[in-house]
This record gives sequence, structure tokens and C-alpha cells, in this order.
Amino acid sequence: MNSQTRVISFHYTLTNKAGEVLDSSRDSKEPFSYMEGVGQIIPGLEKPMALLNVGDVRKIEVAAADAYGIHDAQLIVEVPRAKLPNSTELAVDDQFQASGPQGEMLMFRVLEIMGDNVKLDGNHPLAGEDLIFDVEVMKIRDATKEELAHGHAHGGDGHHH
Ligand SMILES: [Zn+2]
Repeated sequence: MNSQTRVISFHYTLTNKAGEVLDSSRDSKEPFSYMEGVGQIIPGLEKPMALLNVGDVRKIEVAAADAYGIHDAQLIVEVPRAKLPNSTELAVDDQFQASGPQGEMLMFRVLEIMGDNVKLDGNHPLAGEDLIFDVEVMKIRDATKEELAHGHAHGGDGHHH
């Protein structure tokens, strides 16, 4: 990583194709900040964002494949309830980490509880969705030494973690 690595702060409203608002930075006082080149935001957003300047307002459409991936039916699995953490208090929409088919760590969500079995979904909740980001670039600056060492951006008022 070179000294040109930038931190970009922007406000966004995220909607899906149906026009439903899924997320917005405008609910919080501060814009969202990310460091370039480290995968802090999805690739389909980072690429067009890199071309923008402070004050630019854009509508950026990101196809599912460049956002949270296409929906993978193989990541919907049925497992015995007893194999899950917290199995006695399990509820629909609970989430927990487990290894996927390739051994990678995935976040699984409980879709359905069927007696002794539980149906889980390892897809990202936004998998398969084409997304639309309405963005406004608020600030662009060089990453600090500390941010470069940590591999992520820190918020406007300093450390967030
Ligand atoms: Zn940090």
C-alpha cells in the first residue's frame, strides 16, 4: 500500500430494484468512511466511487454479482437442531458463524425450524439483489499511518473501536 491510499467519506441511501430503502448513512450524523483498496465496501461500489470528487452526487447501480453475490441454492442447508449452538432457544432469523461447503466461514441465518431439523441460509441477506446507491461524497483525504496499519478507515472523530 502506498502513501496515496485515500479515505473517502460519503453519505448513501441504499435501495433495491423495488425501491425499498435497505440502509442509509443519513440516519447517523456522520457519513460512512472507507479506506480504498482493502475491500471495506463492495467492489461494484468502490470502483465508480474512486472516480468521484468531493460534492459529487451520483446514483450508482450495482448488479448482484458485484454486490453481495448471486444467490447460491447450495448454501441453503438442513441440519439437525442439536448440532447448533443455543439449540434449545433457537429462533427464526438467528444468525451464527459456521464453515461453508469450501470450509470458509459464513454467517448462517435460521430460515425455518422443522422439528428436530433446522433450515439455514448461508447467503448474505442481500445476495441476488441488484442494488442502487444514491451517494454524496463528503470528504476525501489521505489515510493516516494508523489507518494503514489497521487496514481500515477511522471515523471523523478518531477511533471507533
Ligand atoms: Zn483501527
